[in-house]
Amino acid sequence: SPQIVWLRRDLRLGDNPALYHAARQGPVIAVYVLDDVRPGSHAYGGASRWWLHHSLASLARSLEARGSRLILRRGDAVEELCKIAGESGAEAVHANRHYEPWWRKAQGEMKERLDLRLYDANYLLPPGTVTTGSGGPYKIYTPFSKATLELLPPRDALPEPEALTSPESWPASDDLADWQLLPTKPDWAGGMREFWRVGEAAAHERLEWWEDHVDDYQEDRNLPSVDKTSQLSPYLHFGEISPVQIWHALKHKRSNGWRTFEKELIWRDYAQNAICQFPRYALDNYRDEFDKIEWRDPATDETAVRDLKAWQQGRTGYPIVDAGMRQLWQTGWMHNRVRMIAASFLIKHLLIDWRVGERWFWDTLVDADYASNATNWQWVAGTGVDSNMFVRIMAPLSQSEKFDAAGYIRTYVPELAGLDEPFVHDPPDHMRGQYPEKIVGHREGRERALAAYKAMKGER
Ligand code: FAD
Repeated sequence: SPQIVWLRRDLRLGDNPALYHAARQGPVIAVYVLDDVRPGSHAYGGASRWWLHHSLASLARSLEARGSRLILRRGDAVEELCKIAGESGAEAVHANRHYEPWWRKAQGEMKERLDLRLYDANYLLPPGTVTTGSGGPYKIYTPFSKATLELLPPRDALPEPEALTSPESWPASDDLADWQLLPTKPDWAGGMREFWRVGEAAAHERLEWWEDHVDDYQEDRNLPSVDKTSQLSPYLHFGEISPVQIWHALKHKRSNGWRTFEKELIWRDYAQNAICQFPRYALDNYRDEFDKIEWRDPATDETAVRDLKAWQQGRTGYPIVDAGMRQLWQTGWMHNRVRMIAASFLIKHLLIDWRVGERWFWDTLVDADYASNATNWQWVAGTGVDSNMFVRIMAPLSQSEKFDAAGYIRTYVPELAGLDEPFVHDPPDHMRGQYPEKIVGHREGRERALAAYKAMKGER
């Protein structure tokens, strides 16, 4: 009898344990349900919806090329799967485990109603399996990473199923176009179309390119102008490629570049482990003393709204921050070093709650990920379980020089393209009128942040 494969962030045919095992047991009905209710505040944002549309279209074409189909439904994931199971007489639902709190809940509900078979697919090691000597989870990255390295290699990557047989009749499917995942008025996705190719084949092409560059990662990864990081993050988020596939493809490398890159993949595992322990990590300060800090609130403070808008639109007067925020708007992605600088600027120089930034990234990043986004925002804010200290305040101008961001700034802030160094990092007064004045002085922003921190601690 038919086997349902419930796809979520695992939109690939290769190394897909749920699909692989289902296909060995019977005809396959692959299903994607667009459920915008269960994720609550974390239903997919605009950039993710754009990516999702193309990813589903690509997966549907791959399945059709193999004589199969992708069934699309919209609504409550559990209800829709139960309906499809009823209509098709399916014996079991196969799914790869997901750990976002709403998916864990859905998996639990589904188990009560259907024969749900869960597999480990999307992390180097299954979340929850890297434990301390006493069997508990790690809270801090460095020991987690060491323990992970001792437990690697990951499982072997699975091949694509050899054949996909069709059920006697296909359940009804929505038309992807009707979901309106793509922007229309205005169409803001032009830069994204130029920058990205979406789907499993594109992910593997990117990995091939990366195989030739990973050896230089150690030196190049912090330099936004050079732009030599893998850019695999959206493919990993949507599961168009698995970290296990990436790991095995690169394991023959012996370079420091590969070793450093492997640790970044472990950060991704770490973030997911944090979410397993603290499901509300994207919503609450882990260090609850920060509940008392007096953020400037864009909901009630006009100057805070003005500053937030300037940050979102890349008009803060700090070229490195503006280049990053404009890269984000144009391409749906931002270089990691610049994400840190831009996030720190919002939280500290503008004294705006990290959760406001988390929301903006959630809406605008093509790699927006519940776990990774929250973990990194809490890290920068100093509110997290493992994090930077709040009082360590990044100086955007010296970061810009230190990481040689001139080329990056000239690309994304074209009105500064004619400036030489060092002016391109900190434009002179005569640029006023062409480029915004700083919305807050570095000293002034820093002192305001430190004062708020002291007040929170009760040290006036
Ligand atoms: P590479 O440098 O090539 O790294 C390879 C892979 O390792 C990445 O694709 C990613 O899957 C993983 N990785 C690397 N760094 C991290 C990290 N710090 N935390 C978790 N995983 C990591 N990453 C996301 O995938 N989704 C997010 O929503 C996200 N939000 C972020 C928010 C802030 C404020 C900051 C500072 C970082 C955020 N990151 C997020 C982490 C990181 O910036 C991106 O993963 C990285 O820039 C993606 O580019 P890449 O694929 O070229 O990375």
